[in-house]
Amino acid sequence: MRIITTQAVVDPETCIGCRTCEKVCPTESIKVGDDKKATVNLETCTGCGNCESRCPTFAIKLVALKEKKVIGVDYTKAPQDQIAALCKKAQFHPEAVLCYCTGTRAREVAACILLGARTPEEISRQTGIRTGCSVECIQPILRLLTAAGVELGKAPGWQWYGLTPTNWDLPNDVVKNPDHKKFYFEADRKIMEQVTDAKGGE
Ligand code: SF4
Ligand code: SF4
Repeated sequence: MRIITTQAVVDPETCIGCRTCEKVCPTESIKVGDDKKATVNLETCTGCGNCESRCPTFAIKLVALKEKKVIGVDYTKAPQDQIAALCKKAQFHPEAVLCYCTGTRAREVAACILLGARTPEEISRQTGIRTGCSVECIQPILRLLTAAGVELGKAPGWQWYGLTPTNWDLPNDVVKNPDHKKFYFEADRKIMEQVTDAKGGE
């Protein structure tokens, strides 16, 4: 769940139509038209500020909304056993926070996928989770999508849908190699599996 308090507004006088904003928007909410001016879809803009901070001519401002908007996916609408199974397959506890900017938890993203979302942009539009950080937010989303059997296509902007390998992706000959014993791969896996299996305080 996310509370939206601002949205992007473009000044057409200073917009030069470079499309930088299009490429960094996590929700595909800003588009440059045939007139070479960017316009914002206020239905889906989450006010994340990605476009504002990268516009080379400072043509974008975040303006305060008169009334805040709340967006999010109600995770109780998806089967809880399927949420738990999907999170476990992606090695997350359902209550794990995947995006520290918005506090979005694994169970909400899992529910969003189980209810039909198929891309990080769709998940961002529905849950408000950000996707611009290559370590903390896009990776867990990609791991959950992959665990759900979704084939990741090409990202629409400058985002990269490349999965960073985790401990679970290491081949056995690396894990078992005596020369690597100082890395504690197996002990780390065991601890993480305990975290994934731990019961939450619901
Ligand atoms: S980044 Fe700025 S100048 Fe470039 S298209 Fe978007 S609003 Fe216009
Ligand atoms: S980058 Fe963020 S602030 Fe800009 S249009 Fe997209 S969602 Fe809105």
